Amino acid sequence: MLTYEQARQTVVDHLQTKKGPRATTVVNVWEALGYVLAQPVRTDREYPPFDRSTRDGYAVRAADAAQGSDLRCVGEIKAGDTVTAPLARWTCVQIMTGAALPSGADAVVMIEHTHREGDKVRFDRDARIGQNFVPRGNEAKSGEVVLTPGTRLGYAEMALAAQVGQTELLCAAKPRTAILSTGDEVVLVNQKPGPFQIRNSNSVSLAAQTKLVGGEPVLLGNAPDRLEPLRAKIERGLKEDVLVMSGGVSMGKYDLVETVLRDLGAEFYFDAVSIRPGKPAVFGRCRDTFFFGLPGNPVSTMVTFELFVTPAIDLLNGAEARALPLVQARLGDALKEKPGLAHFLPARVAWQGSTPEVKPVKWQGSGDLAALAHANCFLVVPPDREELAAGETVSILLRKDIV
Ligand code: AMP
Ligand code: MG
Repeated sequence: MLTYEQARQTVVDHLQTKKGPRATTVVNVWEALGYVLAQPVRTDREYPPFDRSTRDGYAVRAADAAQGSDLRCVGEIKAGDTVTAPLARWTCVQIMTGAALPSGADAVVMIEHTHREGDKVRFDRDARIGQNFVPRGNEAKSGEVVLTPGTRLGYAEMALAAQVGQTELLCAAKPRTAILSTGDEVVLVNQKPGPFQIRNSNSVSLAAQTKLVGGEPVLLGNAPDRLEPLRAKIERGLKEDVLVMSGGVSMGKYDLVETVLRDLGAEFYFDAVSIRPGKPAVFGRCRDTFFFGLPGNPVSTMVTFELFVTPAIDLLNGAEARALPLVQARLGDALKEKPGLAHFLPARVAWQGSTPEVKPVKWQGSGDLAALAHANCFLVVPPDREELAAGETVSILLRKDIV
């Protein structure tokens, strides 16, 4: 059985082969959050476009502003002012943060290091050439590529595109992610379940997880545990960029997902991973579409999506597969787990100062959705560890939707 790291790598290796020209779409910068760029973004001019002061103070010629010297202040420049007059010798100009230095000035002295009487400014210390301003063009040259194709767009990348005037961005069309649940017990979330039925909560979480990582959910509803209707739904799902199913992949008599896929000629790259929850997770390819069969218990579905589907959507977007964002934390309470599988336990991390401390939440196993809703991370217990002591350093996987 593969470890979760090996299973993840398997997904990456297979999806890499899908890289290549992809469908693109033009997205307005305001709407671009979570899209992946399919074009380079270049600057429209130098950045900064002028020598830009980083302090409130006085623009000087450093040679004239030695410690103890007096210079005559001949005016002021605020951010946005047009600056044309050069700075004459033995003068200075009051300048604000973000304003342009006059030509001839080669330093800005912070106001805190000066004394002023009338138009006379005295300097408390020597000015150094280049201090407290960013020279024109030092952040980027004109026409320089500041964002490359494959970049995932977050708020900083969107703002940078906006800064250089690129308000329409060619992006990868979000991979259409078919979401299909299975199970005779499952009813629509807006339906009242019978006494032995459950609502299709996985369709909600899978759609949210898909959106969060940059996919476009295509909701296919639920298939009953019967070969014919299940096959029809799966064939429908295989028409999308990727198919994500929940349920029907365990060893039960009515777990038919693998049977149907095999009949359709699927190749399987794994059909179990040594993790708990999530062990029966399946990944393969059928009719040129990759599919995931995730176990149906809600926490299993969520963990296995996080681990295996996320990198697939990244690669279908033309981005690099993101690394699993594990971080280290101090374990709050001692812990005992059955060895053999890597555990992803719903847990809560809190920060005392900068040190994260994590404690597992009480849970009743992988069907306990309420436990996960009280958690903000998963505590990763390695497969070879049976007992962990309080105070040990452990890995956690943050729930990036809420942390
Ligand atoms: P399965 O993986 O098909 O054996 O499903 C395991 C359990 O997960 C089922 O008994 C249900 O309790 C639960 N489950 C399956 N599908 C869903 C779903 N779509 N939404 C919420 N819970 C589900
Ligand atoms: Mg089932």
